[in-house]
Amino acid sequence: MSKLIEKETKDAGSQTMLTHYGDETFHGAVVPPVFINTLFAFDSYEAFQKSQFQEEAYYYSRVSNPTQEIAEKKLAALEKGEAAKLFSSGMAAISSTLLHCLGQGDHVVCSYPIYNGTYQLLQKFMNKFGITADFVDFRQLDQVRAAIKPNTRVLYCEGYSTFFMDVFDIPAVVAIAKEHQLLTIMDNTCATPATLRPIEWGIDIVIHSASKYLSGHSDVTAGVVISTKAWIDELTQNEVVLLGSSLAPLESWLLTRGLKTFGIRMKQHAESAMRIAVMLSHHPQVARVNLPLLEQHEQHELAVRQFSDITGLFSFELHGGVTAVKRLMNSMKLFQIGVSWGGFESLIYSPGLGIHPDQTSRTEWETRLERTVRISVGLEDIEDLMEDFKQALDGL
Ligand SMILES: *Cc1c(COP(=O)(O)O)cnc(C)c1O
Repeated sequence: MSKLIEKETKDAGSQTMLTHYGDETFHGAVVPPVFINTLFAFDSYEAFQKSQFQEEAYYYSRVSNPTQEIAEKKLAALEKGEAAKLFSSGMAAISSTLLHCLGQGDHVVCSYPIYNGTYQLLQKFMNKFGITADFVDFRQLDQVRAAIKPNTRVLYCEGYSTFFMDVFDIPAVVAIAKEHQLLTIMDNTCATPATLRPIEWGIDIVIHSASKYLSGHSDVTAGVVISTKAWIDELTQNEVVLLGSSLAPLESWLLTRGLKTFGIRMKQHAESAMRIAVMLSHHPQVARVNLPLLEQHEQHELAVRQFSDITGLFSFELHGGVTAVKRLMNSMKLFQIGVSWGGFESLIYSPGLGIHPDQTSRTEWETRLERTVRISVGLEDIEDLMEDFKQALDGL
């Protein structure tokens, strides 16, 4: 592919961009090769010396690698950011970013509920550096404001809240952050850049677990951080180099391969998920469907303002509580029981699985978790997925 095509596709439609942009030309190969090498050799002392201080020079793959950079260019363009850096997992991206932004004694205001790994990191692990966090329901803007302290540095959030898919007013939260000169970080894994581009809403730093929809084939564990070029360079020179959690070349290549079909996969996930969500919303056993883009959802108006579509991920709650949840999950055939989501395969999970079976009493919150079923609608034929739900719901 010519360099000309590469230049011209950066600002093209996202699927055109993902098909071509960032791919280097090597003997006309339509698929860029995997640079699996750990190091790059030089002809002279001077040439090596130059690589240490020159941008876009490779010398060691922990720092940068051409195969990584192809995926990084595509992901930065997809999120409308200036630059991206790949990590060995979503958690590596999150922890490296937070360690970069925070120092001894700093404070974070974090949305809640939030991905459990992020919660554990901020609630416990970071305490060893004197870093503290308060967890707040971002739907309540006055609570966000009230949680800000003199030592607050970061507002951390997710586009959809974990499990219940609640949304919040992004521009209002960005305005609060600006007023207090706080950095805003959004984990955009759930919404994906197919439905939400946080940088366009004024968010400073976007993080993804690329293990989900971005790679899409349940065969890559990866993470990415997207922001301005200057900020990503700082992150690379510090946390990427020193903590050493960059993504390996083979995984980077697999991620690029997944990205080539990102747009069409997301369309199909959304179409199938909407069919199932509408069916569930009319089913007598279903108490509630947690999907703000559904018309009857109380956050519908806010959701359509901010999100261009749904993804394949949502949850619903059963009148029959944990007994019905167990029966439903055990009788599904195509929806496999498993954590994670965003791949080609349909998955079913209940957040109640995080509660120890020996625990004798339940809080109201835990009871809600137990009656909730989360599904990741895969790419199987929709008729088969609907049939699977029909037989499982009929058995309740
Ligand atoms: C999966 C996930 C993560 C963690 O990503 P890994 O790639 O598993 O480390 C972080 N945030 C969200 C919202 C996720 O779904």
